[in-house]
Amino acid sequence: MTATRSQELFERAAAVIPGGVNSPVRAFHSVGGTPRFMVRGEGPHLWDADGNRYVDLVSSWGPMILGHAHPDVVKAVRDAAVHGLSFGTPTEGEIELAEEIIDRVDPVHQVRLVNSGTEATMSAIRLARGFTGRRKIVKFAGCYHGHVDALLAQAGSGVATLGLPTSPGVTGAQAADTLVLPYNDIEAVRQAFAENDGEIACVITEAAAGNMGAIAPKHNAELKELCRANGALLIMDEVMTGFRVSYAGWYGLENVEGDLYTFGKVMSGGLPAAAFGGRSDVMAKLAPAGPVYQAGTLSGNPVAVAAGLATLRAATHDVYRLLDANATRLGALFTAALTDAGVRHRVQFAGNLVSVFFTEDEVTDYAGAQAAETWRFPPFFHALLERGVYPPPSAYEAWFVNAAMTDEDFQVIADALPHAARAAAEATT
Ligand SMILES: *Cc1c(COP(=O)(O)O)cnc(C)c1O
Repeated sequence: MTATRSQELFERAAAVIPGGVNSPVRAFHSVGGTPRFMVRGEGPHLWDADGNRYVDLVSSWGPMILGHAHPDVVKAVRDAAVHGLSFGTPTEGEIELAEEIIDRVDPVHQVRLVNSGTEATMSAIRLARGFTGRRKIVKFAGCYHGHVDALLAQAGSGVATLGLPTSPGVTGAQAADTLVLPYNDIEAVRQAFAENDGEIACVITEAAAGNMGAIAPKHNAELKELCRANGALLIMDEVMTGFRVSYAGWYGLENVEGDLYTFGKVMSGGLPAAAFGGRSDVMAKLAPAGPVYQAGTLSGNPVAVAAGLATLRAATHDVYRLLDANATRLGALFTAALTDAGVRHRVQFAGNLVSVFFTEDEVTDYAGAQAAETWRFPPFFHALLERGVYPPPSAYEAWFVNAAMTDEDFQVIADALPHAARAAAEATT
């Protein structure tokens, strides 16, 4: 499989775009080699600039649950585009998308649309501080909530992949009000509330962790109780899990109510759109109804809203059954191949998010994810890539199935995995 054209494009990109990419997770920084420049996606497949076809297990980092270029979504985007790209006024589509989100997720009574998950979490935190009149926030190590200054400390996703403790450019003042605690360690949260009595505005958590690999939460119900008892808001970040792991996101699987929710990825259908929402008494504090300012020139963009709405409407209960089945099937293939090759591993699920950790121990937090033999990942990754499978280019990311995958795609994966497992077995530090 050649990557000559991708290599040329990457060199050209690197001259004009830092690192050659517009989001660090797209670079092959931790796995080595040349990022593939994609030219087309259809159903479960991507094609790169050299004409190679891949079974896509990244799904644009989550959004494409229906597969690429789903006919309903493409039609909705075309229909919206011919009517005009942006008006800077309210439109009916925004109401429909808000209603669809509220119908699906019971604790969400009002939503505000924004352009990215980062904006959603940033705004939710501002709102929580404005509502409570408190400064401090709690986040968990290994959780990624976008590149919000106050939330980059010990973050997951690209921050974890690049091994950064935090980011230069974030000032001490911006980070000082952020308390970073281990994921799934409820005693640490209890202690933080005791030590910062009356000062914590909110706890923000990935509803289920997906940005340090897939780690199911054990602490959500207790987080809710502790927040309630201490007058803090619980922000459930469902940017990754929302409308992916079930019809109602992680909330649909666990039914623990947060005060605020953030959404992105799936609800945008692949265009730039995201949202935050929750309790109406909290949302009522947002401008222009209330004093907490939040705005966006392109927020609720009609084309993005059309893509999101068409995606959610096509994401029926049957689609979620397929996603679950595909995740289970992928996990079983991992287990079979790695067991055959004698590689210590653990396949973990958070709903239909799947991860392979090169360790025998259950991974429940960031320290556990970092303790795995992540050096086995690059050769594992490249053996799959070479054989027409597109995995996430990082040991710290979840794998995202879509509902368009067929038996033929699973055969491609099944044929590639023994080679990848052998490469992982032969890996050295
Ligand atoms: C992707 C992600 C974000 C950030 O969303 P962007 O649209 O990339 O800004 C926030 N939170 C979680 C849980 C995510 O997975």
